[in-house]
Amino acid sequence: MDGIFSNRLVMLPLFILLGVVVGSFLNVCIDRLPERQSLFRPRSHCPVCQHRLAISDLIPLFSYLWLRRRCRYCGAPIPQRLFWVELVTALLFAFLWCSYGPGVQLGILLAYGCLFIVIFVIDLERGLILNRLVYPAALLTLALVPLRPELTIVNSLIGGGIGLALLLLPVIVFRGGIGWGDVKMAGLIGLATGSPVVFTAIISAIIVGGLIAGILLLLSVKKRGDTIPFGPFLCLGAMAGLLWGSTIYDWYIGLFS
Ligand SMILES: [Zn+2]
Repeated sequence: MDGIFSNRLVMLPLFILLGVVVGSFLNVCIDRLPERQSLFRPRSHCPVCQHRLAISDLIPLFSYLWLRRRCRYCGAPIPQRLFWVELVTALLFAFLWCSYGPGVQLGILLAYGCLFIVIFVIDLERGLILNRLVYPAALLTLALVPLRPELTIVNSLIGGGIGLALLLLPVIVFRGGIGWGDVKMAGLIGLATGSPVVFTAIISAIIVGGLIAGILLLLSVKKRGDTIPFGPFLCLGAMAGLLWGSTIYDWYIGLFS
């Protein structure tokens, strides 16, 4: 075991803890951003009985399990999503830390990971991709390009254009399910991944989204005509693109040569 690897293991519990705490904050963002509420005030309270939550009610992951998924004050069920977002954020932090170690790349991937978790859940729950998230993220993405050796501004802008173009056609042709929020999101993904990785990200989102939609129809979980939000698949495709984009792209091109 080399030095770097063992150092990463030493820091791993700290990153899991950080991930759990950040996940708890992402839950606040998911609840409050669509309502245009402040992220910091009022303090956390039960949405049913309005009782302000004590510190012991707010310990990520553990409070949920300890309180047996119910509000301590009124017994209203606590949404499972709170637990899953905290868990997934913790796993993401652990995975990225182990894969990348300290550095700018880690910071950038953590930021995108958090952003995409928030967009994923809001679109799943409300069928909305907020401009309030996508526009600032697009500006920040361009500002961060100089820190990323694999990307240039021109390449990022070309990627953004390709992302927009790839989803424009499905939006105009199919309607329903895919909307303008998805088009802007695809533009953001293109800015973040550049070209040609944007193809990997968007096309994997379309393939996985199509497969899952097909399975949901087969299992009668969804009926024909129901809408299935596309944003979550775009989020998954974007993360796959950022993490393994060029590898997947090379493999794909290799199939034809
Ligand atoms: Zn309550």
